[in-house]
Amino acid sequence: MDFSFTDEQVDLREMVIKFARNELDYDLAEYDKNGEFPLEAWRKCAEMQFLGLPFDEEYGGGGSDFLTMSLVLNALGYACKDAGLVHAIATQVLCGMQIRMFGSEEQKQKYLPDVCSGKKIFAQAITEPDSGSDALSMRSRATWNGDGYLLNGTKMFITNGPIADVVIVFAVTDPDKKTLGGISCCFVEKGFAGFQQCNPIKKMGLTTLQNGELVFDACPIPPGNLMGKEGQGGMIFNESMEWERSFLPAAHLGTMERVLETSIRYAKERKSFGQSIGKFQSVSNKLAEMKMRLELGKLICWKAATLKDQGKRATLESSIGKLFISECLKQTCLDAVQIHGGYGYTTEYEIERDLRDSVAATIYSGTSELQYNIISRWLGL
Ligand SMILES: Cc1cc2nc3c(=O)[nH]c(=O)nc-3n(C[C@H](O)[C@H](O)[C@H](O)COP(=O)(O)OP(=O)(O)OC[C@H]3O[C@@H](n4cnc5c(N)ncnc54)[C@H](O)[C@@H]3O)c2cc1C
Repeated sequence: MDFSFTDEQVDLREMVIKFARNELDYDLAEYDKNGEFPLEAWRKCAEMQFLGLPFDEEYGGGGSDFLTMSLVLNALGYACKDAGLVHAIATQVLCGMQIRMFGSEEQKQKYLPDVCSGKKIFAQAITEPDSGSDALSMRSRATWNGDGYLLNGTKMFITNGPIADVVIVFAVTDPDKKTLGGISCCFVEKGFAGFQQCNPIKKMGLTTLQNGELVFDACPIPPGNLMGKEGQGGMIFNESMEWERSFLPAAHLGTMERVLETSIRYAKERKSFGQSIGKFQSVSNKLAEMKMRLELGKLICWKAATLKDQGKRATLESSIGKLFISECLKQTCLDAVQIHGGYGYTTEYEIERDLRDSVAATIYSGTSELQYNIISRWLGL
């Protein structure tokens, strides 16, 4: 087993960290308060090719492998304090992965250059008001009318939804078959008749990330906008969840590393009872736990990414990684607030924002409870 990164990967990570510190230095507190998407920062990230790194050069991508993409997300999670922006970037890349895997050549040529350049913002819409964990019990319906499909339904919590130019929408095409070939996937573009993008939903964290409801009212979908074959939606969903759970945690590991470093610094500086608080075992144990979680998280995350690069399935590894790292992120942020005492509870020290952001990680892309279910199924239970 080789646990090392190449010199190029190490240099790239350093370069991304430097870029994020110098160029993504907007007034995050203000954006956080207003729930505003940092469009300028998005454009800068696109110019750096963060949105297109794993896609072929002929579509405007960087031609990198998946582990390298994960490393870039990791560097962004570390050096960019805006987890909302990093999540928006990951969503764009995920949509690109779906197009790369299941799109026709025409669709790749039409959409992938826009994924890479960031000129268009992409979203994927699965969740509905009445179906989240039980995603495939969705009720949105795409009905064939001879010329194409008519899409009816409502999607909920969709990342990038309120600002998206293109949405990959999952809907039922054959209610008799449902999950076994009854769900399909199509492209809906901003401005399509009957397509309404609602205002962003206010959230406790990830406030710069724009999540919203999407409504489709007899929205006409040309036949060429179907992704993959009719009935392949369930398979696309499963594949895409595996990809998402393989690389989103890489960003969380970056955040955990930053929060750990901040907490170590504080534990050395802050004095209590005549010594630095880091000398108290109940404080240093928390820091040691943070380090342990970070190092263990890296092993499963890089393993999942490597399996994907080798063209292998990583259903179990990505589920374990998603569950372990998101729960560790939440606990790490909670411990960091505790170590900072009253100051940790203030907005000035910024750790409270990391904590608010971290809670979502155990919900999106399949809740922690759902990951336990997936792992249990692998155990034959
Ligand atoms: C920040 C954010 C971004 C998101 N982005 C997107 C997006 O881009 N696209 C998209 O389609 N969706 C998105 N979602 C939606 C997300 O995928 C769902 O919120 C998530 O799958 C949970 O669904 P739910 O909210 O309906 O909760 P529910 O499914 O109603 O679950 C409620 C609770 O019951 C538990 N539960 C449910 N079923 C089981 C079970 N079988 N066993 C054990 N426990 C169970 C859950 O774990 C949870 O604790 C996003 C959500 C958030 C918060």
